[in-house]
Amino acid sequence: MQSNGIHSYYLLKIKGLVQGVGFRPFIYRLANEFQLKGWVENQNDGVLVKIESAYEVAENFRRSIIEKAPPASIIQSVDIEKDGIEVLDSFVIRKSETNSDKVTAVSPDIAMCEDCLHDFKFQKHRFNYPFINCTNCGPRFTIIQQLPYDRPNTTMSSFVMCTDCGGEYTDIANRRFHAQPIACHHCGPVYSLHENAGIVTKIEIIIDTMVSGLLAGKIFAIKGLGGFHLMCSAFDEQAVNRLRELKFREGKPFAVMFRSVESAKEYITINSEEESIITSWRRPIVLAEKIKDLPPGVANGLSTLGVMLPYMPFHYLLFEQLQISAVVLTSGNLADEPVMTSNAAALETFVDKVDGVLTYNRDIYNRADDSVVAVYNNKVRMVRRSRGYTPTPILTAMNTEGIFAAGAELVNSFGMGKGNQAIMSQYIGDLKNFETYSFYRETFDRFSQLFKFKPEWVVSDLHPDYLSSQFADELSRLYPEAKRLKVQHHHAHIAAVMADRQLDERVIGVSFDGTGLGTDGKIWGAEVFTADLLHAERNFHFEYIPLPGGDKAAEDPWRMAISYLYQTFGDEMLQLPLPIFEHVASKKIHLVLQMLKANTNCPLVSSAGRLFDAVAAIVGLTYQSSFHAEAPMRLESIANIEINDRYDFEILQEAISFRTMIHQIVKDVLQHEPRDLISGKFHNTMVEVIIQAATEVRNKSGLTKVVLSGGTFQNRLLSEKIENQLLNEGFEVYFPGNIPVNDQGIALGQLIIVAKMRQAELIR
Ligand code: ZN
Ligand code: ZN
Ligand code: FE
Repeated sequence: MQSNGIHSYYLLKIKGLVQGVGFRPFIYRLANEFQLKGWVENQNDGVLVKIESAYEVAENFRRSIIEKAPPASIIQSVDIEKDGIEVLDSFVIRKSETNSDKVTAVSPDIAMCEDCLHDFKFQKHRFNYPFINCTNCGPRFTIIQQLPYDRPNTTMSSFVMCTDCGGEYTDIANRRFHAQPIACHHCGPVYSLHENAGIVTKIEIIIDTMVSGLLAGKIFAIKGLGGFHLMCSAFDEQAVNRLRELKFREGKPFAVMFRSVESAKEYITINSEEESIITSWRRPIVLAEKIKDLPPGVANGLSTLGVMLPYMPFHYLLFEQLQISAVVLTSGNLADEPVMTSNAAALETFVDKVDGVLTYNRDIYNRADDSVVAVYNNKVRMVRRSRGYTPTPILTAMNTEGIFAAGAELVNSFGMGKGNQAIMSQYIGDLKNFETYSFYRETFDRFSQLFKFKPEWVVSDLHPDYLSSQFADELSRLYPEAKRLKVQHHHAHIAAVMADRQLDERVIGVSFDGTGLGTDGKIWGAEVFTADLLHAERNFHFEYIPLPGGDKAAEDPWRMAISYLYQTFGDEMLQLPLPIFEHVASKKIHLVLQMLKANTNCPLVSSAGRLFDAVAAIVGLTYQSSFHAEAPMRLESIANIEINDRYDFEILQEAISFRTMIHQIVKDVLQHEPRDLISGKFHNTMVEVIIQAATEVRNKSGLTKVVLSGGTFQNRLLSEKIENQLLNEGFEVYFPGNIPVNDQGIALGQLIIVAKMRQAELIR
């Protein structure tokens, strides 16, 4: 490919996420194809390449870099400039300088690639080998213990490469050059299937046994990339029900792994955006609309289904033999505990409960759940960020170095600032669970070591009882020189989206969720702000209402219904022939009424989540939640989206009151109006509330950018309608793209607020 043009020396500066993804060997191979002399090296913010060539060749080389880049890399820019003369004999990979403490070079795990799918049918030493991988695919984050990303620093360290693998590993022309988890039948990890009858280690027999077992309704615990899964046939009602029993009848819908996109399309609708995500190398679970039913226990009454495709070699081997097109694949844990990662724990927990436990002898060092993604109005929305995404940093417009953000409590994730990058932990979960909190602490230690992080600023939520806030207190005792700050929950929600969308200005902020401690000591959860990264001024909120039983009310939507009914009707509510009085014991109802009248254990709340709960219980849909946000999800699931009608509400200064709406809903229920209609009208009311509040704020402030955040916006119907309406009314609309809209995003908001305060020199 050399041209006869005049040769010069060029520097190519490649910026973006180009480290730890096999980028330098890729450049090396490409340079060889182009027959170029020069070198490549890692820099703090990317990769630097020097070549000697004619200008047109350098331009072609640049184009090829962009076109052929490794799948897990994200190139932001490739700048090319003339450079000085240098004696170059060949093309070499230069050793990195020791500036790597500023660099975050850990790739997320990558689904098996097309080339490996081919290799494992044609390479003799890897024929059907279930741990085949290459520089473009395989485990990464889940096996790395420390940087640099070299084999001795991963859980592959105990496996000694055979001569075949060693040859490929050191051959720069080979796709497995420096593929750290490289392995084959002779030298790599192996699976073991533990059954009552004994232990099987031959992969063909394991597959045969599991295929016939799945068809016969058996349940298996199988070790995945970031933790164990529980698996059964997606078509076997009894097996699905048994699986639910096993998980303590937790009501969360199960995710399903389909053999292929084509087979998934029989059961769900997928648009092109959804298809590109479901087939991407990140291989998340995608939430899509159901069009055909699986056994009712799978989606558990919801209108969506979480669907994913095979991503480990083992998944492909299984589907090669399996005559059915889908299996339930749900996290291998019990109730709210973190997903299991160790063979010993999984064997101990599951061996008596399931029909077989499949382990392998490579350790999972960093736990990672399957990520969950949805597409709203053709835009990607994260629901749970973990495997395949973590630890890809979020690029920030500001320096975040040294800031530790502890996050929220329920759907926790923490963040660490490194230069202009925010490294967010994987999804951790509900810290109130002891094992989950241990996972949080362990992950903090591991991330600190991996990313050479030392906290100089420690920020948490305002809520003193959050275990994450207490961890932050503990940390600041450990690092007395570190500064300790707190950020209000809903301000953090808004700031998280601003960080993700790189906004740094005043905006209209709409934060709707379950609960978060407000600056007035009350519980917030439906707030409209005028906000920037430094301040949040509350313009509107839902009228305060007692939350009988405090936190308990979140599990019992009927309690909130009683609170709203009592606020609207007083004692006369007991005369109303509503279904709630048939389904909830009158003793319990009277107890809650007493609490309300005596004002005992009834903190005041302005929460969108709790209003959804109340409406779900008043229409007779959900009285008790068996998983987080169940009532709002069911209410959304039944809504008639064709309805344009809505209910009435009042805006009294700052407070938005729903007494009229509750009146009208009760009337509709008593007149036996269909629930899908009531839910549709209720959703439209929420849209109208936001439109009116945002319009008022715009009229006063002239602001037109609306930032929406908080768990309530996981509601697809609400999100899509509010976005369309706001756009119609001339607003600009911002939802997050790289982080979940729920509390998993809180840490990013905390992080960016402190970064901004520091930049503005409000703190030092
Ligand atoms: Zn591969
Ligand atoms: Zn080998
Ligand atoms: Fe929240």
